Amino acid sequence: MAEALTHLTSTPPQALLDILASPGGEALMLGHVHPDGDVLGTLLGLGLALETAGWKVTFAGPHPVPDVLAFLPGAERWRVWKQAPRTFDVLVLTDCPNDDRTEGLLEGSRAAHSRVLNIDHHPDNRRYGTINWIDASAAATGEMIFDLVRALGLKLTRDSALDLFTALHTDTGSFRYSNTTARTFQIAAELTACGAEPALVSDRLYQRRPADALVKLGEVLQRVRVSADGRVAWLPIPRGLVSEAFAAAEDLVTYPRSIEGVQVAVLLREEAPGVVKASLRGKGEVAVNRIAHRFGGGGHENAAGCTLSGTLEEATARLLAAVDQALDTQAP
Ligand code: 5GP
Ligand code: MN
Repeated sequence: MAEALTHLTSTPPQALLDILASPGGEALMLGHVHPDGDVLGTLLGLGLALETAGWKVTFAGPHPVPDVLAFLPGAERWRVWKQAPRTFDVLVLTDCPNDDRTEGLLEGSRAAHSRVLNIDHHPDNRRYGTINWIDASAAATGEMIFDLVRALGLKLTRDSALDLFTALHTDTGSFRYSNTTARTFQIAAELTACGAEPALVSDRLYQRRPADALVKLGEVLQRVRVSADGRVAWLPIPRGLVSEAFAAAEDLVTYPRSIEGVQVAVLLREEAPGVVKASLRGKGEVAVNRIAHRFGGGGHENAAGCTLSGTLEEATARLLAAVDQALDTQAP
């Protein structure tokens, strides 16, 4: 097997361009668990662009497209697999830091001759690909895929542009978070010029709540707690309180995060008995991915996640103890 290539700059590596430059068999655009706007926007946007160049493309992942992202062009072609039905010549993974996050689909769809293209902006990416293009300075993988589409000379249709714009929009919290840079806006401007409509994206993401969602949101937000010193806010969600669709649409961790003085915000959602999914958000004072790593998770300095075992109360206590410890040992 050829030696794996790792590339850390924001220019697509030549070896990646060489593989994608001309159609070479069947490509699988493979998503990670609980797909979000960045992974779906990039896989769909790139896949649709590759099709215009003659590639045969399949889109799939272990979990479905959440309702709130069903507007993404190409989303209707997303396949949900529990097992890979066959192997592919080229596998493209975006925004996926480790192969565990495909729940076995990477292993199942990878043959000895397959080339695995690992394109990601997570600093803790495990470099499981044949080619690993990792750019932790990118606000979203969407920025990298924009550069890739341009470097390949592919046409950016309105549909691909809308997919990539949504990737940028969601990973930057609507261009509000500290990962947003001049480059983000430059790319967003170009995507808008190609036909992506910013107002349509905002409408689909934030202006389509069912009428009863505000009542539910009010009920949920009563559970927000803030530590005595004001540095940590958290929101524990017992199993059955909210649906998967509601949780995906509301980005609930933004509420504890929005409180003044809070340095770390945590959402804890009991997914199944004894299984608690945590989302962590920081504001620059402490790297929350270090906390997530302690529990087998990962992510970015200011946005990370992990899964804990135990009851909601136990998991909350363990995670908050780790957050406290991280805050107490942070550099003054
Ligand atoms: P979210 O809190 O929105 O689910 O995820 C925020 C960030 O943390 C994303 O970059 C995501 O990839 C990462 N993340 C969330 N959960 C996990 C996890 O269980 N494992 C790893 N490695 N990363 C996670
Ligand atoms: Mn991302």
